[in-house]
Amino acid sequence: FKKDSSEEKKHVNIGTIGHVDHGKTTLTAAITKVLQSDGLANYVSYDEIDRAPEEKARGITINAAHIGYSTKKRHYAHTDCPGHADYIKNMISGASQMDGAILVVAATDGQMPQTREHLLLAKQVGITKIIVYINKADLVDQEVLDLVELEIRELLEDFGFEGANGPVIFGSALDALNGRNTDIGEKSIRQLLDIIDDYIPYPERDFTSPFMLPIDNAFLVPGRGTVVVGTLNRGVLKKARAGENIGVLLRGIKLKDIDRGMLLCAPGSEKLSNRFRANIYFLTKSEDEDLSMILPGEHGSVKLTLLWKMVMSPGQQFTIRENNVTVATGIVTETLP
Ligand code: GDP
Ligand code: MG
Repeated sequence: FKKDSSEEKKHVNIGTIGHVDHGKTTLTAAITKVLQSDGLANYVSYDEIDRAPEEKARGITINAAHIGYSTKKRHYAHTDCPGHADYIKNMISGASQMDGAILVVAATDGQMPQTREHLLLAKQVGITKIIVYINKADLVDQEVLDLVELEIRELLEDFGFEGANGPVIFGSALDALNGRNTDIGEKSIRQLLDIIDDYIPYPERDFTSPFMLPIDNAFLVPGRGTVVVGTLNRGVLKKARAGENIGVLLRGIKLKDIDRGMLLCAPGSEKLSNRFRANIYFLTKSEDEDLSMILPGEHGSVKLTLLWKMVMSPGQQFTIRENNVTVATGIVTETLP
């Protein structure tokens, strides 16, 4: 039995980020339209993307469209959110972890507040590869495009991305969507897709670092002892590698001493801390009907101190719960001494 070649394509998660109205949804629709002519995707119209159904992640309502398409090399799940708040929630909660992002910047505006905010969040959630699509090239001349490029490269450097040498493409998503086979039209989309294939790395599993197993569940096997269950997210154990769902027998450990959320790791491989800086998003009232006193829909950077020390590292996502309801979702940005 020979597998369909599409099954062998590696799966990569990407998405469009950037300021409102800069053309993220138009670009997403244009990508599917260009790929449809190669038989690699089904065209998804602008309206279909923008009417994405609400989804719930960690008790938060997020509007996000997940569009699947393939290039000749890989398969992609592409996330596009309709509003700024949806990007914040999506990224802080880790609802769809992106392996790389397309930053859409309208040449008519240049960088705007949400351009910077999305870049900051991208950095915090561990996205390292950003491809810039300078959009609306049909509305400005080359001089303006060059200026915007310069400004964006500087901005990327400021945020710790590959600014000087990273990929920047000029185009008009609208022209591409309208079927114009010009340099800034369809050709800019093909150029973008080639760069996505080459520049965004396939997420490799880490088999070399000391093992780490976040514990999802624990039970007692009569006559043997306590067994903890979870997905090995890093490293190798005698009979299992990162990515595998495993059970580990812990001799001499009592079941009552195990809690969900604990980690099993190699001795000395992790630091414990109870103080950290985080970026958190507070749920709105409509996202949690049982609560009457919360700062609705706000997000910001905070310093938190826990009662006990635990394993934590930048990029780790968490939720804050009160009386058994989720009131906020966050991401660790820095552990503090
Ligand atoms: P989003 O909020 O970033 O998703 O932006 P949209 O894709 O909804 O686009 C916002 C507006 O800009 C819409 O009216 C689009 O038709 C228009 N637009 C998008 N791309 C282009 C482009 O390349 N050229 C021009 N002239 N308009 C564009
Ligand atoms: Mg949009």
